[in-house]
Amino acid sequence: MTEENVKVAVRVRPFNSRELARNAKCIVEMNGKITQLRDPNNPNAEPKPFSFDYSYWSFDGCKEAAGGYFEPDSSQPNGGKYADQQLVFDDLGEGILKNALEGYNATIFAYGQTGSGKSWSIIGYGKNKGLVPMFCEALFAKIKENQGNGVQYEVKFSMLEIYNEVVHDLLNPAGKKGGLKIRENNMKGFYAEGLKTVLVTSYEDIAAKMEEGTRNRTVAATNMNATSSRAHTIVAVHFVQKTKNAAGQETAKTSVVNLVDLAGSERVESTGATGARLKEGASINQSLSCLGNCIHALAENSQGKKVRVPYRDSALTKLLMNALGGNSKTIMVAAISPADINYEETLSTLRYADRAK
Ligand code: ADP
Repeated sequence: MTEENVKVAVRVRPFNSRELARNAKCIVEMNGKITQLRDPNNPNAEPKPFSFDYSYWSFDGCKEAAGGYFEPDSSQPNGGKYADQQLVFDDLGEGILKNALEGYNATIFAYGQTGSGKSWSIIGYGKNKGLVPMFCEALFAKIKENQGNGVQYEVKFSMLEIYNEVVHDLLNPAGKKGGLKIRENNMKGFYAEGLKTVLVTSYEDIAAKMEEGTRNRTVAATNMNATSSRAHTIVAVHFVQKTKNAAGQETAKTSVVNLVDLAGSERVESTGATGARLKEGASINQSLSCLGNCIHALAENSQGKKVRVPYRDSALTKLLMNALGGNSKTIMVAAISPADINYEETLSTLRYADRAK
């Protein structure tokens, strides 16, 4: 995929209390576009470098905080300062908004192990608004700014989750027993049949709907983290711009922006899962690897190859198909922990992100 169509960002979160309690060390270093990871089993070896479009640093005192291997300094991105939600939105969200106004689709997704900061980045917590609320706020500000330019704007919002390959409507959880069917037609491509899509006229409308949807997310405890979701959540913002030509004929330009909070990428073995949890993990692994394969195939095709993009292999990639590839913009946020105790998962997240380029 060309640089223009796919961007990869890596964001390291601060240490959590569990890591601090275990006196974890910082094994992540960032310098401009380069993110380096040190192998705690081999601390004298050179750290492994990865190159991404953006590296988001979280703290400037990680050595002091946890006696880490790395001593962050001003060479870290953003001068070694905490990359806040505003900075991430300015880099990633603004461009997507501009593209949406031009009629392009986009997908922003966050990948990483449970507790690595995916929801923080995509949805946010309370006043720490993530990309969805910031994007919606900016979208309505733009609409207000453009009032009187002859364009009629319409914004629609939907929120679903995919759990064990079954699609649940988060704005209508009791709506369909056994989940929504995924259908395909020539006009729409793949879609979840009967998904509730609500017309919203203000940011407050969206905020209320998001709160409702977030409450309905399937939450299942794992040994890793007792509160994080084991489902993929897709928030879709549909944006229609209607204009009339001199003869009074109406034309509409539609774009959809998907903001996706993926289920945790941790391998099943590391969570000690059995039974239902094991099935859940297998289904998550399958759809995450399918998403990775699709993005990798799109990247290959943009370099002139002609490989099949396996959209049909998972519910997740079917539903994202319209806004992945072609003229769509894709942004991946790889969310990672700074701590040595999460080395294996962090390495696997960085490798996954690396394959998306
Ligand atoms: P995930 O969605 O990947 O399971 P969360 O986004 O819920 O993980 O993050 C777990 C916790 O880590 C959050 O409740 C928050 O306290 C903290 N956190 C994550 N990312 C950041 C960040 N960039 N800055 C500050 N705190 C963060």
